[in-house]
Amino acid sequence: MSGPVLQLRPEGLYCPAGDFYIDPWRPVARAIVTHAHSDHMRWGMGSYLCSEKTLPLLRARLGDEPSATALPYGESLGIGGASVSLHPAGHIVGSAQVRVEVRGEVWVVSGDYKCEPDQTCEPWGPVKCHGFVTETTFGLPIYQWPRQEDVFGQINRWWQENAAAGRTSLLSGYSLGKAQRLLAGVDPGIGPIYVHGAVANMNRACAAAGVALPEWLPVAEAEKGKEWSGALVVAPPSAVGTPWTRKFGDVSTAFASGWMAIRGVRRRRSVDQGFVLSDHVDWGSLLAAIRETGAETVWTTHGYAHQVARYLCETGRDARPLETQFGEEEEDAE
Ligand SMILES: [Zn+2]
Repeated sequence: MSGPVLQLRPEGLYCPAGDFYIDPWRPVARAIVTHAHSDHMRWGMGSYLCSEKTLPLLRARLGDEPSATALPYGESLGIGGASVSLHPAGHIVGSAQVRVEVRGEVWVVSGDYKCEPDQTCEPWGPVKCHGFVTETTFGLPIYQWPRQEDVFGQINRWWQENAAAGRTSLLSGYSLGKAQRLLAGVDPGIGPIYVHGAVANMNRACAAAGVALPEWLPVAEAEKGKEWSGALVVAPPSAVGTPWTRKFGDVSTAFASGWMAIRGVRRRRSVDQGFVLSDHVDWGSLLAAIRETGAETVWTTHGYAHQVARYLCETGRDARPLETQFGEEEEDAE
């Protein structure tokens, strides 16, 4: 028997030898999920296989009902004619690359990933393979991330200046992953930290997965008539500009995302400040990561899949874009 290790089906990326899908977008019997963001982990699968630290997040998002099994990083599991293992992707806590080996041929599905380590998740490392399926959310040369130490320096200065001026600092970032990375990276000595309810739920799930966070309180639990000036409030982007923020009085708003590298996006978001902080690879790390896998064949998904595939082909690689349904929440999630 021979055939491709992976193939694209209407339900998602499929492994015929193991009869399973990776991050499928339609209900299937057996799904392996790379991480707990909703464009990769969807409702309705017969069973889920995920990393150990993704399991508490899966329970927080999908409830207790779905059948889900955790596989520790680096451990191999035989599924039908395929051997499967998970390896850190450095994107959010628990995020994994999926390595699939069939008859000696190895493919790796990156899921979302970034190469720069951060405090909230296990660091990414290259996994050698023949075929690499990579995300390309920020796959253009204009996306080059500043060092995260510098970005957190900017965030702390912004918070400090707001506190000195009697303002509340409203910092938005996606509630799973980005919010915890922000909390873990800011200087809690500047003032009290409060979070939106959606962030509070994800904080609890991430704490169960072992992520260390500074002290925080849900906004809903603050006393009535509270004076908010000097506080940092972390909320999902969807909460900014809604009546929910009125209680904070004089606020300065900011958004932390890779998209903040583009001035037009910052304007459209109408926030006072944009911080360039992404949980995805930038252009330079993307090319380096592809090189380090040693892959002869590269499939690109999500974002600039066509542009990156064209670039790789022009530089002598066998590459093609895949039509997937990842990245639905794009500007909020990255
Ligand atoms: Zn993601």
